[in-house]
Amino acid sequence: MDSFDLAVVGGGPAGLATVLAAQARAPHWRVCWYRGTRAGFLPAYAGLDPVHRLNVPVERMGLDAERPHDFLAWLRARHPERGAQPGDFVPRNWFGDYLEARMASLPAPPGLETREFDVQHLVRDAAGWRLIDARGGEAHARRVALCLGLPGGQAPPHAPAHWIADPWAWWRALPQGRLPLAADATVLLVGSGLTAVDLALGLRARGFAGTIRVVSTSGRWSTAHAPTPPLPAAEAAALDAAAEAAGSARGLLRLLRAHARRHPWRAVVDALRAGTCRYWAALPLAEQARLLRHAFGAWNRHRHRMAPDVLAALEADAGLRLERGRILVDADGRIHCRRGDATLPVEATLVLDCRGPAFRAALSGDGLLARLVREGVLDAHPLGTGVRRPADASLAVLGAARFGEAFETLAIPELRQQAVDVLRDWQGGAGA
Ligand SMILES: Cc1cc2nc3c(=O)[nH]c(=O)nc-3n(C[C@H](O)[C@H](O)[C@H](O)COP(=O)(O)OP(=O)(O)OC[C@H]3O[C@@H](n4cnc5c(N)ncnc54)[C@H](O)[C@@H]3O)c2cc1C
Repeated sequence: MDSFDLAVVGGGPAGLATVLAAQARAPHWRVCWYRGTRAGFLPAYAGLDPVHRLNVPVERMGLDAERPHDFLAWLRARHPERGAQPGDFVPRNWFGDYLEARMASLPAPPGLETREFDVQHLVRDAAGWRLIDARGGEAHARRVALCLGLPGGQAPPHAPAHWIADPWAWWRALPQGRLPLAADATVLLVGSGLTAVDLALGLRARGFAGTIRVVSTSGRWSTAHAPTPPLPAAEAAALDAAAEAAGSARGLLRLLRAHARRHPWRAVVDALRAGTCRYWAALPLAEQARLLRHAFGAWNRHRHRMAPDVLAALEADAGLRLERGRILVDADGRIHCRRGDATLPVEATLVLDCRGPAFRAALSGDGLLARLVREGVLDAHPLGTGVRRPADASLAVLGAARFGEAFETLAIPELRQQAVDVLRDWQGGAGA
């Protein structure tokens, strides 16, 4: 059986950031990178249209924690004709090109072995972990980093055939040329977050001229970025201390609103960004659950902002309707929209489910994470949204699966930092 110092499981940006961090900090380690059968930077950074843009400015998207400008530097050196400037929200495919380029710079075996299949089981032994892959093959590693991302969406019970639970898989499978949608068709987007934004723009970019109906419980788009001076340092420090001491969901929201009355709200949200995980961790579990129930949507709309011209394009689209309501599927597979006391049937040619990260589905499905929880290797977080930090220091979990214990754990700036932290822990002796 092949033996490694580290196995990285997951072929997305978190997996790549971990491999790069290992190369930089422990160049003598033998690393095995399981990229999964779904290898490639899908759905966020590949198989897209130029209208699909990053929601983080280009200068903050580098894959190394020490060099956040790396993506911008690469773009300027490799593609000067693209004219990227700090502050730009560039096409996500460009970031996919950068990820591919970073991959191409990785060393060849025996330093790094890449396997394009899934890991199905992890079994602890005295010296580390046995990794059993989907083909029945085995490898051994002293340490394992799980970077599994989010599973695709799950359709609600009784969903009809035209309900698409994984809209990105649908998007990628579209034939070139004309869309298989008539000009008088209606497409229903369930949810109004950034996936719905992407799909509305993508449908128009591919020539769809029919009606796009977007229904979400908020009935609002995410907000747009706008140039905003940061909070003065003293104000930011006071806000930081008060947010950590807030003690309750209500206290935190009251604080946020009070500051947003005195300062531009974007500056307030941005000032909180670096400490979000700390404020979250300082709340009792019941308050975390309350925050998720009552304020998560509003927070996401203000925190995950889109490029201003993207919002302008949505607002100028006369065939696109954004509505408040809850979409339901009845036992006969019929779709309804509930708003207040009224429940009305919905006629749509196609339904794209854009309700966002399926945190809970990751623990109930048949994926590796759910299996490791069932087998007692990992403990589910009491919020049911992810797993606890493993008690066994030779096992690390990065990215979406940490949601619950961590709050900000999906975007590139957090993933690259987690990769470095994990390596630093291992080099400091944990799981050595
Ligand atoms: C549409 C969209 C747009 C986004 N835009 C931005 C943005 O602009 N900026 C930003 O910072 N973030 C953005 N994000 C957040 C995004 O989730 C992260 O940037 C990033 O893709 C997460 O990387 P990851 O490696 O954690 O997960 P993923 O990219 O989901 O990768 C997980 C990988 O693990 C593999 N895998 C799963 N199970 C196994 C197994 N058992 N064995 C082996 N491999 C396995 C999968 O095949 C996959 O390759 C966006 C997300 C989406 C969906």
